[in-house]
Amino acid sequence: MNRKIREKILKGVAASPGIAIGTPFFYVHEILNISRETVPDHDIENEILKYKAALELTKDKILEDKKNASKRGGHEAAKIFDSHLLIIDDQVLIDEVIYFISEHNVHSSYAVSKVMKGYQAAFEKIQNQYFSQRAFDIEDVSRRIITNLTPDDKPGSELSKGIKGRQIVVSDNIFPSDTVNFNKDHLLGIVTEFGGKTSHAAILSRALEVPAVVGVKSLSKWVNKASLLIIDGYSGKVILNPRPSTFESYKKRQHDEEKQLENDLKFSVLPSITLDNQQISILSNIQSVLETDNVIKWNSDGVGLFRTEILFESSLSILSEDDQYNIYNEVSKKLYPKKVIIRILDIGGDKLNDKISVKEDNPFLGVRGMRLLFDHPKLLKSHLRAIIRASSRKNISIIIPFVANLTEVKKTKALITKIKKELSDEGFPFDNDIRIGVMIEIPSAAMIADHIAKAVDFFSIGTNDLTQYVLAADRGNERVSNIYESFHPAVIRMIDMTIKAAAKRNINVGLCGQMAGYPLAIPLLLGLGLREFSVTPFLVPVVKKIIRRLDTEECGYLARKCLKQGSSRAVSSILSEFFGKKIGDNPLQ
Ligand code: PEP
Ligand code: MG
Repeated sequence: MNRKIREKILKGVAASPGIAIGTPFFYVHEILNISRETVPDHDIENEILKYKAALELTKDKILEDKKNASKRGGHEAAKIFDSHLLIIDDQVLIDEVIYFISEHNVHSSYAVSKVMKGYQAAFEKIQNQYFSQRAFDIEDVSRRIITNLTPDDKPGSELSKGIKGRQIVVSDNIFPSDTVNFNKDHLLGIVTEFGGKTSHAAILSRALEVPAVVGVKSLSKWVNKASLLIIDGYSGKVILNPRPSTFESYKKRQHDEEKQLENDLKFSVLPSITLDNQQISILSNIQSVLETDNVIKWNSDGVGLFRTEILFESSLSILSEDDQYNIYNEVSKKLYPKKVIIRILDIGGDKLNDKISVKEDNPFLGVRGMRLLFDHPKLLKSHLRAIIRASSRKNISIIIPFVANLTEVKKTKALITKIKKELSDEGFPFDNDIRIGVMIEIPSAAMIADHIAKAVDFFSIGTNDLTQYVLAADRGNERVSNIYESFHPAVIRMIDMTIKAAAKRNINVGLCGQMAGYPLAIPLLLGLGLREFSVTPFLVPVVKKIIRRLDTEECGYLARKCLKQGSSRAVSSILSEFFGKKIGDNPLQ
């Protein structure tokens, strides 16, 4: 360890969970400076044939990568390579390169590099994630074609070859083609300077199950000075040259994590019941097909919330009905007979989408969720058709997000009925009794939950939004995080009202906000009558361990006491005391 340089902590986006400790392997994408070489007139035809052959070869290699990615990460990971195939099959691009070769009498590799760079630069100029990802994909494809044109000089050749033993790959960005070729035995983790949670590198690192932190600003400025790195794929921290104390504490965390994992896995086979034998469902929140493996691994009862908007963020184009059908169908099939609640696209607020969102001053109170989709009837229709088409196994339910009034519920239901009729006329099989639920996450919906309950089959309480709207405190704004209190009595009363309204109409109610995974909240929620929790997959065993130590009658008494309080502080202290008595300091052993 280089002790001359002091510990430096950089912050990025946590892209794939886990902790990696190791030496860096600097992966620098070779700059493609292809020199201009002249081709005589009589050789032009030959040069074009060479180019076409390289295109074919590149296409075959992309198809091979797609197959490998599919094995590792399912349809979603494979889909990344579809966008590369689109680029390579683009007739305008092909013709442009051919024209460039014959017009300027140049080598095909020079023509490819020139033409592709032009497109890449045009996309790079636009400051948004969609276009920068697109530029990056063009660069990846361009490199591959050039590699196949100049087989002796391989830019971006297989990355793992340079890695000594097991190392952390550090780069400005990672091409999808690199990731697929990674040898997992050599790869401890990935850190990149660019890219977001939904960048292709992030998706593929989750598929490979290696810890990754992306979008680490000024990584290149500091990382060369580091001889040892820690990457924390949970918090998005990258620690360069850790102090001995930091090193030890992360080493311990890594060790504890491994032990915890073993313990949790053992625990996950036990039934999820309270001390008084009440069966509790513990579902998972997911946002990609990749996570279905974790749902199974942690023995979760199914998916309580599939956030579909992330799929749209990570794709380069608006997903077609068939693309979506393939994803929803894969999730349904993989998890059958477990249930899967698919949320209708909730774009807007903090989940902005480059392709569809509208620019507005106050997006959290603006055109979000169904409000936005009603303005995009074609998109809404293909989205609902895809979900309903995937429902023939009868394990899929639909949930309507961001509902403020009954009209939105009725309008969505009417559309679903119409689509079902169309699909049946077209001969598609589907679940005619597909269950329709509503996210209770806007205070008005909680207040009229008794009315909404008459119109739907189930509720899911979205406490992340409910808390922000009840308390008028932006869920992502650090400066109002002291106002954003999950245990504020107003929030608890709204949860109580919703659960009671559901019980009165005998419909199911779950809770899929972060609160479902807060240890202190679990006894309170059980006491309010909640019997279905939906959390990030790896929290499933944690929630289960707590539930198995509780008695619902005692929790009911606790909840009634909390409902009488006037401040979140008072509620928190009651909950802490109860938790300490029933669970003790360390319930996770
Ligand atoms: C919520 O609001 O609690 C919720 C689960 O949805 P999201 O966090 O996706 O808005
Ligand atoms: Mg929400």
